Amino acid sequence: MHSNVVIIGSGPAGLTAALYAARANLEPLVIRGLQPGGLIATTSEVENYPGFIEGVGGFDLADNMEKQAARFGAQFMDALVEQVDFSERPFKLTIDSGEIVTADTVIVSTGASPRHLGVPGEELLANRGVSYCATCDGFFFRGKNVVVVGGGNSALDEGLFLTRYVNQLVIVHRRNQLRADPILQERAFALEKAGKLRFVWDSTVTEILGEQNVTGVQIKNLQTGAESTLATDGVFPYIGHLPNTWIFRGKLDLDENGYILADEHTRTKIPGVFAAGDVVDHVYRQAITAAGDGCKAAMEATWFLAEQEHAASKSQAEVEEVVSPALGQW
Ligand code: NAP
Repeated sequence: MHSNVVIIGSGPAGLTAALYAARANLEPLVIRGLQPGGLIATTSEVENYPGFIEGVGGFDLADNMEKQAARFGAQFMDALVEQVDFSERPFKLTIDSGEIVTADTVIVSTGASPRHLGVPGEELLANRGVSYCATCDGFFFRGKNVVVVGGGNSALDEGLFLTRYVNQLVIVHRRNQLRADPILQERAFALEKAGKLRFVWDSTVTEILGEQNVTGVQIKNLQTGAESTLATDGVFPYIGHLPNTWIFRGKLDLDENGYILADEHTRTKIPGVFAAGDVVDHVYRQAITAAGDGCKAAMEATWFLAEQEHAASKSQAEVEEVVSPALGQW
């Protein structure tokens, strides 16, 4: 299989790139990856994506973006890219079925995945009370007690969402100040006043307890060193994200945290390979900035392909110029 533009990843960056590349008649191929729609599709409510007065569900936003790109001819494939070869064009991408997809240009928009706590019990109890997606799993915790870990936008956004279902929500944060936007803080403090949630400050979860299912967490106060056990049915760690770049190690330049290094035009060190969205951005990490990046990457890919075509037709014309006088002698 071959495409002018292969887009790896299907979050707002990849889907916007697909829309622009499709409207440039490049018939892009989007390889959806592990999380179709990207992280935004696992977000309950998006209130800060322009154009939606009342907000929009994260899944709906991603779904609409995909349908919009498909309307202009973008193709989609449910697969994982396991290996990339950027040593020559066309580039070669090996997908999980073992097939090789070739591409004249590649847009990397593989996003980021939730960072894990890395404490005992977390892996064992994954999907048995430990979840990284309140939107997907919140319903299963109806009437139960749940712990959210973290103090950023994700922790508060998803924690507030969980209060719709749960009996008691406890937010464990390692400092005594939240990183989340003021509007989310105000909402959380209002719910705290109403007795719907409780904060445990200056503390971290050191172990998740339970055998078949989560039954509690071990908490350590980082100021006093005191340890305590809190009974709970669920744990939602929201402590940031890690870029999904392991397949690009040694192929593209990465920074010390694993983010792809690209210039302001989304160009990586390999001509014809562009990177967009959370896979390059450890500062803004918004759906709208990722979408903007995806737009830039698709425009850059379009110009890159046009330049290649121009260069190829110019060298063809030069060959013809050299050959035709010779032919004229016959
Ligand atoms: P984040 O902003 O990096 O916040 C991570 C939180 O986890 C911080 O409070 C951090 O504590 C804490 N933390 C980090 N490592 C920890 C550890 N090992 N143990 C315990 N706690 C730890 O990440 P995020 O909330 O996932 O947000 C990611 C990006 O998406 C941000 O740019 C955010 O603005 C954006 N986002 C936006 C919205 C929205 O606009 N509604 C919603 C969701 C996400 P410290 O505060 O002490 O560092």
